[in-house]
Amino acid sequence: MDPQPLDLLIRNAGHVVTMIGPDVPGGWVGCRAGVVQAVGPAGSEPAATEVVDARGAIVTPGLVNAHHHLFQNLTRAHADSSACTLGPWLEMLRPVWALLDRETAYLSAWIGLADLALAGCTTTGDNLYLHPAPGLVEETLRAAAEVGLRLDPTRGYIDRQRLDVRGAEDADAVLEASRTLLEEWHDPAPGSRCRVSLGPTALPATRTELLPELAALAAEHDARLSLHLFEEAGENDRAREVHGRGAVELLVDSGWADRAWIAHGNHVDAADAAALAAAGIGLAHCPSSNLLLGGPAARLDLLDDAGVAVGLGTDGAASAGTSQLWLEARTALLLQRQHRGADAFGARRALELATTGAAACLGRAGEVGGLAPGMQADLVVWETSGPAYAGAVTDPVETWLRCGPPRARHTIVGGRAVVRDGALVADGLDEHLDLHRKHAVAWQSR
Ligand SMILES: [Zn+2]
Repeated sequence: MDPQPLDLLIRNAGHVVTMIGPDVPGGWVGCRAGVVQAVGPAGSEPAATEVVDARGAIVTPGLVNAHHHLFQNLTRAHADSSACTLGPWLEMLRPVWALLDRETAYLSAWIGLADLALAGCTTTGDNLYLHPAPGLVEETLRAAAEVGLRLDPTRGYIDRQRLDVRGAEDADAVLEASRTLLEEWHDPAPGSRCRVSLGPTALPATRTELLPELAALAAEHDARLSLHLFEEAGENDRAREVHGRGAVELLVDSGWADRAWIAHGNHVDAADAAALAAAGIGLAHCPSSNLLLGGPAARLDLLDDAGVAVGLGTDGAASAGTSQLWLEARTALLLQRQHRGADAFGARRALELATTGAAACLGRAGEVGGLAPGMQADLVVWETSGPAYAGAVTDPVETWLRCGPPRARHTIVGGRAVVRDGALVADGLDEHLDLHRKHAVAWQSR
């Protein structure tokens, strides 16, 4: 290790889970300038200017969210839509979401990011595909800078030629806004706070020729591509009708291979899984959203067999309600256990989905989602004491996922606390909540 002193040392952890190398019971994590320098066992701690005592806690990499819609927390648990399946749910809420403007984009992102940080998330994707006003993604990035999370926005769209709803756009406007966002915000360097990706919300919402244009633009900026896919049954048939090819074939022909991840995939079959794997296209598994909308959940057995990179996503709070990756990981575990048996899927695999798997979807493998020298100092010190954890003494990762829900004592991004002692570090939570509520009431009373 570099002999210069560290600026942050997390020590005395009950257990350090690195996800990259072996666990370190009773260990420590040393960081400098926002980067992990070393992880080691008790008794070998180096000196540091700031020391965090993690006694009794489990330390994990910061959780990574591969799919979200921050704006949707303005229509959380919306009564009229709560018994809907995906299609009617979208039809009901899309006109409400069309009220999105710069102020509500900023507020929903600020509250959504605070929600994620308090639940141990340090990097999140955010797919924003309705643009009734300009500059909305920029507002979410302004909120991310204040709350302190890494935010990787997907500049989504609905092509007005395909679906003429408020917030839909013409192709020229999509390309221009995408290029501007890439030029002004996208940072492909390691440790980046913002990686922009592009894509339509779903294949029926775009004209065919835009797909290769977006791929070329993404390639020019070393950026990625994302969309909702296989969230509904029969998407290959619809893709053949609209675009003349099956869905994954269309993406590959459009230059999306090795540069994309899809959200949901809860109707993927074995052939789709094989095609996704061959194309190097990842998948964000969003079980709460799929189940609450009455759909099936993604077949992780097929995806694992094919070798698809699978990460975890919360999806938007309008469908999922909560935005807790811990709950998504636990739901993934329950589903896989029910479907595949008790020995087929453990807590560590579920935590992989929420760390290394989601990082791979976002194109951040080896950078976030693990604790090893050279990786970003993004980590969570989880409170795992009290009655809910009493008696759990043999397997810290199973403990983390089965017991709880766990509370993030500290959430650290790039070596800086965004949650300290269970409280958000950024100022203004109560004021932002008041304003957010005012807008949510106004939106939902229309
Ligand atoms: Zn989604």
